[in-house]
Amino acid sequence: MDRVDCVVIGAGVVGLAVARKLAQAGREVIVLEEAEAIGTITSSRNSEVIHAGIYYRAGSWMARMCVSGKHALYRYCSERGIPHRNCGKLIVATSAKETEKLQSIKEHAEANGVLDMQLLAGEAARALEPALACDAALLSPSTGIIDSHAYMLSLRGEAEGAGAAFAFHTPLIRAKATAGAIEIEAGGGAPMTLQCSLLVNAAGLSATKVARNIDGMPLDRIPPAYLAKGNYFSCNAKAPFSRLIYPVPEPGGLGVHLTLDMAGQARFGPDVEWIETIDYEVDPSRAERFYPAIRKYWPTLPDGALMPSYSGIRPKIVPPAVATQDFLMQGPRDHGVEGLINLFGIESPGLTSSLAIADHVAELANI
Ligand SMILES: Cc1cc2nc3c(=O)[nH]c(=O)nc-3n(C[C@H](O)[C@H](O)[C@H](O)COP(=O)(O)OP(=O)(O)OC[C@H]3O[C@@H](n4cnc5c(N)ncnc54)[C@H](O)[C@@H]3O)c2cc1C
Repeated sequence: MDRVDCVVIGAGVVGLAVARKLAQAGREVIVLEEAEAIGTITSSRNSEVIHAGIYYRAGSWMARMCVSGKHALYRYCSERGIPHRNCGKLIVATSAKETEKLQSIKEHAEANGVLDMQLLAGEAARALEPALACDAALLSPSTGIIDSHAYMLSLRGEAEGAGAAFAFHTPLIRAKATAGAIEIEAGGGAPMTLQCSLLVNAAGLSATKVARNIDGMPLDRIPPAYLAKGNYFSCNAKAPFSRLIYPVPEPGGLGVHLTLDMAGQARFGPDVEWIETIDYEVDPSRAERFYPAIRKYWPTLPDGALMPSYSGIRPKIVPPAVATQDFLMQGPRDHGVEGLINLFGIESPGLTSSLAIADHVAELANI
């Protein structure tokens, strides 16, 4: 059986960042990816927003990794010319009750280390975005957008430049923890068996399934898995905004927000739809809930402007009744399996946090 130092399962943005980190630290790395290419699952089905780190529970992994990952990501993109734009975001209040909430959102952000938030009166917000209807707003200057595919290509290139190898069409089927090594059986067109000293499970939506297929991994350490789909609608009218526009969040979600892609095209969403099985179809009737929500801050949104676009699925590890989850990143001290790192529940802000997650994986692996 061939032996390699490190195996990373999954070539989404997180697996790519981890592979780059390990390879640049001098480790021999193979990435096993069941799809035909990098980043075809959740990493290409998201909003491509570089999040500031405003809402996450203070002290949570999400809060810490979003803030440190955001700085690392801006630096990474600037140094390499990866398309991104630090466009900023406005959280808009459209009633007196919502206006009251802006101050507490600002304080929460500050507790997370997001220190640049600015409270704006309605007039000041409209000076920035003349088409906006709002009573007041909170400006997040450090929010931005990124061409996530260009970012992933760069991560792959740097990982390969440091010696990492990629095997596509190669799903991990099962693995077994033995003394001093983890034995891996991979399937696909060219099935293989491998031994490694470090196995990083970065399989996104399949991370819990992969963990269950590792003989020796204690089942009671594997979280449950739930799927929360986020549907997007595109807009066939030109949206008159240059910043991202978010309503004041409601219990259970961030509300119907407007994000922009690097080409300036607006999209609305994602909403939250709990599902049992993976299905990326967008139900056009969900637009009915989008129109009134969007018109609170963009009253002139024309009838019929919203078109079903795409969806992504959040790898939840808590059920719908639990409002928030955190990243669950387990090393040997958490589950007792030498050489195994599991990354569970890497939903938003996983893209923003990817470089910080990779650093944390290296720490868990004592690299
Ligand atoms: C609707 C939505 C919007 C989001 N918006 C944002 C945002 O704006 N900003 C932000 O920071 N984050 C956002 N996120 C979160 C972000 O997209 C994810 O955190 C990130 O893409 C997760 O990357 P990953 O590599 O963990 O998972 P994935 O991209 O899902 O990659 C996992 C990979 O593992 C592979 N795989 C699975 N099983 C196996 C196996 N057995 N063997 C081999 N390979 C396997 C899959 O094929 C896949 O390529 C959003 C997420 C969603 C769902």
